[in-house]
Amino acid sequence: MRIDVVTIFPEYLSALDVSLIGKARRDGLLEIHVHDLRDHTVDRHRTVDDTPYGGGAGMVMKPEPWALALESIAEAGRSAGLGRPVLLVPTPSGELFRQSVAQELSAADHLVVACGRYEGIDERLFHWARELFEVRLVSLGDYVLNGGEVAALAMIEAIGRLVPGVVGNPESLVEESHSDGLLEYPVYTKPSSWRGHEVPDVLLSGDHGRVAAWRREQQLERTRRRRPDLLPDPAAD
Ligand code: SAM
Repeated sequence: MRIDVVTIFPEYLSALDVSLIGKARRDGLLEIHVHDLRDHTVDRHRTVDDTPYGGGAGMVMKPEPWALALESIAEAGRSAGLGRPVLLVPTPSGELFRQSVAQELSAADHLVVACGRYEGIDERLFHWARELFEVRLVSLGDYVLNGGEVAALAMIEAIGRLVPGVVGNPESLVEESHSDGLLEYPVYTKPSSWRGHEVPDVLLSGDHGRVAAWRREQQLERTRRRRPDLLPDPAAD
């Protein structure tokens, strides 16, 4: 999978060099390019923002540097024989970025992430971009960050770890929170007795059937308690 990230803070993305994503890059499973949006400006001051039409606080990102950056990335993908790229735009006004979205996007061969700053990017860019990209506006959650870089890191990690080979043991992707709509069951390691706290007996029993039943029960109980919104609405038919 090829991933391009466009940002005015390329150094922010240095976290993509470490841990499993960094290893996946070195192993050639993920090809990640980080671009400085300012390299696609045409004025002496490398300007990427301007005042908003209609007035109001803050600045808005100009569409032209974005269009120049995105055109050159789309062209690079085409030359490499990749399919139609997906343009991921982190924004608090987008669809919620869920595990199901990460699953879907892990099948793409070319993702481009546009990290906004200030009050966001001129809306016309997203209409223009539909010619070259499948455009997805995605939100990390119902809160506001200063920029799209943190969201880009979270999304790249969530998507990248689903690419075959990135996580060493694919089994560990199966029983995770959100993989089947529920939260994961509690997990424990040695020692079985720690500072007066015991591992539940069932996990020491060696009875795989009982362990599986206990874990399922724990998943349902934990989901009911912490995230009832994830459970099917009993009133709906
Ligand atoms: N004025 C925008 C609004 O109210 O919707 C918020 C802009 S925010 C200060 C600047 C940038 O941070 C956004 O363009 C986006 O890239 C990123 N951002 C902020 N919150 C986000 C979230 N919850 N999910 C994804 N990206 C977010």
